[in-house]
Amino acid sequence: MASKESPSLKTLSLPVRYLRGVGPHRAELLEKLGLRFVHDVLFYFPRDYLDLTDYREVPDLEEGKVQSVEGVIEEIESRRGYRARTVVGILLRCRSGYLRGVWFNLPHIRDQYSVGQRVVFSGKPRQQGILWEMAHPLVQVLGEDESPRSGLLPIYPSTEGLQQWELRQVARNALELALELVEDAFPAEYREAHRLWPIRQALAEIHFPSSREHLEMARRRFIYQELFLLQLALAIKRAQQQAARRAPSLLVSPEIDRRIRRLFPFELTPGQNQVISEITSDMGQTKPMLRLLQGDVGSGKTVVAAYAMLLAVVHGYQTALMAPTEVLARQHARTFERVLRSSRVRQVLLTGGLAPKERETILAKIAAGQVDMVIGTQALIQQTVQFKKLGLVVIDEQHKFGVRQRAALKASGEDPHYLVMTATPIPRTLMMTLFGDLDVSTLRDSPPGRQKVRTFLTDESRRAKWWEFFRRKLREGRQGYVVTPVVEDDDELDLVSLERAYEALSNGELEGFRLGLIHGRMPGEQKESVMEAFRRGKIQVLACTSVIEVGIDVPNATLMTIENAERFGLAQLHQLRGRISRGSYPGYCCLFTGEINEQAKKRLQAFAAISDGFELAEIDFALRGPGELFGTKQHGMPPMKIADFERDHSVLLETRDDARKLVERDPGLANPAFALLRRQMLARYGRVLDLGDVG
Ligand code: ADP
Ligand code: MG
Repeated sequence: MASKESPSLKTLSLPVRYLRGVGPHRAELLEKLGLRFVHDVLFYFPRDYLDLTDYREVPDLEEGKVQSVEGVIEEIESRRGYRARTVVGILLRCRSGYLRGVWFNLPHIRDQYSVGQRVVFSGKPRQQGILWEMAHPLVQVLGEDESPRSGLLPIYPSTEGLQQWELRQVARNALELALELVEDAFPAEYREAHRLWPIRQALAEIHFPSSREHLEMARRRFIYQELFLLQLALAIKRAQQQAARRAPSLLVSPEIDRRIRRLFPFELTPGQNQVISEITSDMGQTKPMLRLLQGDVGSGKTVVAAYAMLLAVVHGYQTALMAPTEVLARQHARTFERVLRSSRVRQVLLTGGLAPKERETILAKIAAGQVDMVIGTQALIQQTVQFKKLGLVVIDEQHKFGVRQRAALKASGEDPHYLVMTATPIPRTLMMTLFGDLDVSTLRDSPPGRQKVRTFLTDESRRAKWWEFFRRKLREGRQGYVVTPVVEDDDELDLVSLERAYEALSNGELEGFRLGLIHGRMPGEQKESVMEAFRRGKIQVLACTSVIEVGIDVPNATLMTIENAERFGLAQLHQLRGRISRGSYPGYCCLFTGEINEQAKKRLQAFAAISDGFELAEIDFALRGPGELFGTKQHGMPPMKIADFERDHSVLLETRDDARKLVERDPGLANPAFALLRRQMLARYGRVLDLGDVG
C-alpha cells in the first residue's frame, strides 16, 4: 500500500516541519495542538472569526459600532487609576492618526505586546478629548508580511507561545502547498444534489472566508460530512444486523391475541395497544426486530414486554428478560408469576444467590428447552446461559445499552428479536445518533387513574412542616421513601448520609413508625427481604440510596424526601419520583439541598415544575450539553469536531435519510466513487461499531 501511495498523499502526510515558516520550535508547539502533518493543519478549523468587515482609518471612525483599525504600537503604559485599578494603555500609530486601547484591571496585557508590533484593534471606539479610544479591544498581532484583510479573520484554538498570526501563517502555507492535492470524498454529482461545496473550496473558505455566506457554505460542507460519516456507519450497522440475520417469524393471530390478553387483570391502554402492534409487526418478520420501547416511568412497559414474550412462547420459543439489578429481576419474576398463574408457561428466575447445584440444574433445563422464560440480570444471562431456541430478548431499563453492547450479544444460528426498554427518555437528537440503527416505539399515555406527584423545592425553614405532613400521610396508611446520596458519613463531603438520616429519623421526626434501610452494598438476600417487608407494608418508610431509582413498583408508597437533591441528575431524580406515582393516591416529593449554585438551582426548579419525563430529558440535554452523553467514556464513540447535534439537528436528519438511502442501494459501499468516504467512515467507526469487513 505504502509504495503505491500517490504523490498527493505523500505531500499531505509530510510533517509540519516541511511547511514554510515552521522550524523545530514551532513544530513542537504545533504538535501540542495535535498538528503533526500537513493534512492535520488543513483540517484544523478556526474556533471563531474576528469580524474585520468594518475596517477603517482613524479619521473615519464612528462612535458606538464595532470597527477595526490597523497600526503600529508606539507606546505601552500602565498606571494606577481610580480606586487603585490598573489601567493599561497601548498607543497605536495608524496611517492617519492615533488610537489608544485601554484595559482596566488586566495588568498582564502590558506584557503581551511590545513596541513596534503591527496589530489590528477591533472594538467600539469613543472620542476622548482629541484622541480616539477603544476599551478592551480585541487585538490581533500581524505577521511581518501579513496584510490585514477586510473580512473574517480566523481565530484558532491555540496553546501558550503560539500567536494567532503564526497559526494563520501556518494555515496559509499549508493551503498553498497542499490544497490542490486534497481529494474529495463526495463525487461531484452527489455534491450537487446535496448542496455541498467541493472540498478544496470549502477548506480555503473555512480558514479564510471571503464572506459570511461563504463561511456558512464551507461549514455546512464539513458539518454534513461529519454527520454523514456517523449516519453511514449506523446505517451499515443496521443493515448488517438485519440483512445477514434471520429470526423466527412469530405471527400473532386473533386467537393468540385473545389468549394473551386474557392473562392480564386489566384492559390495555390505547398507547400499549399501539406499541404492541408495532412490536408484533416486527416479530412477524424473518429479520430480527431491533426496537427501543421508551415510555415514562410507570407507563406500563412491563405488560407490553409480557405480551411480546408470551407471543414467543406460544410459538414454542424461549424468551429472556434482562434487568439491570437483581431487585428488579425479582420484581419482574413476581409480576410474571401472577400473570402466568393460570397458564402452562414455565418460568425461572436466575439470581446470583443460587446454590451451584441448583443453578446447574436450571441452566441444564434452559439448554434442553424445558424452560420458556428466563428472568435475571443482564450480566448473569449474557455470561452463563445457553438457550435451546431463543426467540426474543427483552432488555429492561437500559438506556446505556448502546450499539456496542448489542453488537456483543451475538447468538448462534437463528437470531432472537430484541426489545430494549427504557424509562429515561432519550432526547430526540441523541436518539438520532446513538440509536440511529434502532426503531423506536414510544408509550405516551399511562394507565388510567394515575395521580400526579406534587414536587416541592424548599429550604430548611420548612423541614419541620414537611415531616409533619409526612407523618400525617403515614397515619392515613401511605408509605414513603427517604433518599440520600451516600451511605456513610464522609468528613470531606458535607452530605446527609443514609446512616445518619436513618438514625436521626428513627429517634426524631419519624419515631414510632416502622423504618427500614436499603442500599446497593447490602447482600442480595437482605435487600430482597427488606423490599418484601416494604411491599407488604411491614416497613412504612424506606430509607435508601438511589438503589430504588429504577423500576421498583409499590403503589402504596406516595411520599418521598430527597436529601442533597443537587447530587442527583435530572434523569435520576425523575426515576426516583417515578416510584411514588404508581397508584391511585397522589404523590408528594420534597427536595432538600445543601449550598447550591444557580445552575443547580435552575435544574431543580425545572424538575419541580415539570413532570413530563420527555420534557425533562430535553432540558437535561440542553443544560449538560450533548458532550457528556455522547462522550467517549460511555459509548466509545469519537467526539464531533465541528457538528453540534442540537444546533445542526436538521443536517442530522438530512444525513440520516441520505445515508440510509445510500446503504439501501449499495449495502457494501462498493461503488468506487465512494471509496474514500468508506475509508474515512471505517477509520472513525469501524472498530467502535464493530463493522468488521464492510463489503
Ligand atoms: P414501567 O413502564 O415503569 O415499567 P410498569 O410496567 O411497571 O411501568 O407498570 C406500572 C404499573 O401500572 C404496574 O403496577 C402495572 O401493573 C400497572 N399497569 C400497567 N398497565 C396497566 C393498564 N393498562 N391498566 C392498569 N394498570 C396498568
Ligand atoms: Mg419497568
